[in-house]
Amino acid sequence: MRTYTSQSAILSDIQSGQLKLRDLVQHYLRQIEGNKHLNAFLETFSEEALARAAEVEQRIQSGKAGKLAGMVISLKDNICYKGHKVSASSKILAGFESLYSATVVERILEEDAIIIGRTNCDEFAMGASTENSAFGPVLNYADTTRVPGGSSGGCAVSVQADMCLASLGSDTGGSIRQPAAFCGLYGLKPTYGRISRWGLIAYASSFDQIGPVTKSVEDMALLLEVMAGADGHDATASSKPAEAYSKLLNSDKKYKIAYIKDCLDSEGIDAEVKAQTLVTIEQLKAAGHEVVSVEFPYLDYMVPTYYVLTTAEASSNLARFSGLHYGYRSANATDMESSFRKSRSEGFGPEVKRRIMLGTLVLSAEHYDAYYTKGLKVRRVIRNATDALLKDNDFLLLPTTPTPAFKLGEKAANPVSMYLADIFTVQANISGNPAVTIPVGKHSNGMPYGLQLMGRHFEEASLLAFAKQVMNEQATAT
Ligand code: GLN
Repeated sequence: MRTYTSQSAILSDIQSGQLKLRDLVQHYLRQIEGNKHLNAFLETFSEEALARAAEVEQRIQSGKAGKLAGMVISLKDNICYKGHKVSASSKILAGFESLYSATVVERILEEDAIIIGRTNCDEFAMGASTENSAFGPVLNYADTTRVPGGSSGGCAVSVQADMCLASLGSDTGGSIRQPAAFCGLYGLKPTYGRISRWGLIAYASSFDQIGPVTKSVEDMALLLEVMAGADGHDATASSKPAEAYSKLLNSDKKYKIAYIKDCLDSEGIDAEVKAQTLVTIEQLKAAGHEVVSVEFPYLDYMVPTYYVLTTAEASSNLARFSGLHYGYRSANATDMESSFRKSRSEGFGPEVKRRIMLGTLVLSAEHYDAYYTKGLKVRRVIRNATDALLKDNDFLLLPTTPTPAFKLGEKAANPVSMYLADIFTVQANISGNPAVTIPVGKHSNGMPYGLQLMGRHFEEASLLAFAKQVMNEQATAT
């Protein structure tokens, strides 16, 4: 079976009779089975996916298929799919089955996507390496001694190792973009409010967004187009109409692009990642774009602001997992109070507990003003500064991550070094802007890495079109 990198290639092979959709699903299932050691999937929905393949194939042949026909997709284990298990890779949701489907799931199914299974992630999406899952770490397919990134590590590896064509993940501080970059893929964190969060297990509600991980800009645009738009179930989902993003990808417009020099000079940035970013900047200039270096004096505040605010929101969001209503309940409890305490102590992993405690401190009466209120103010300052920057410039360009994928265990013992893995991705979640990662390079150690592009609120159409231009320009230059 050839390796498909876009839905359009699959669709045209089905239409011309060269490919049966069932065979493709079977191929993906074999890939999943043969690469079990990567630990990317927690569960496959094999029978269902195969049955659906036959139905969708018929609709394709009769010309009645939806926009996503031929696309086989995995779901991060924090997106609800009615009648299927969902656990946020936590022991505390053991045995829990979704009572309804996320809006994104309903929308992709309506357009004939096939969901092949649910993928492993950091527990409650808290992490940058997928080592915090209650079900063991996910391994990077390009080098199994390295992490795939996180928290959507299973999503990224499922696409990287050809176990499906695309995946839906969630991004609160980089969880789509960072693993996509570590696995040589495309990833999009849409504008906050562009996609409904209904049916996404919340980590930090004012930061979380669902988005795609794919092998092409085209598929990223197509999935956004299908998922975006207002939703009566989520008041934070914008009523701004979604655009036909996949039809708006071809542009030869010349843009003004900014990069933050301090990012490239920051401590800990890999020399090759920096050099490649500078090469891309030169390629863009040669192609007629204007690229300027700008000051952005808030870099040191990004990660602290992110952790103050997200842990506060997490401590509130995760209060509902008490052992009473859902999933795991301790067998050692003797009364209600000890049932809460023991179910939570036994059900949550160490990183989740650390964040609940931190968030509880941030929101406590004595510290609320010093941390939470202050954090909100800094968030506003960062958002205003980002908006100002994107008023004068069309896009902000920066590496997705300071380094390619690190070794398993390398940062696990030091939470702060793990938190700093997100230094370039958290800005888009603090400010709400859309951001993509595109696979621009391969390190001499064999690992891929990405370039990040950030755009104005709700201007995904031009952001994706520009991402395509950058990839085309790179292809012509090399
Ligand atoms: N790595 C970041 C964290 O641990 C981001 C996670 C995410 O985007 N869900 O919070």
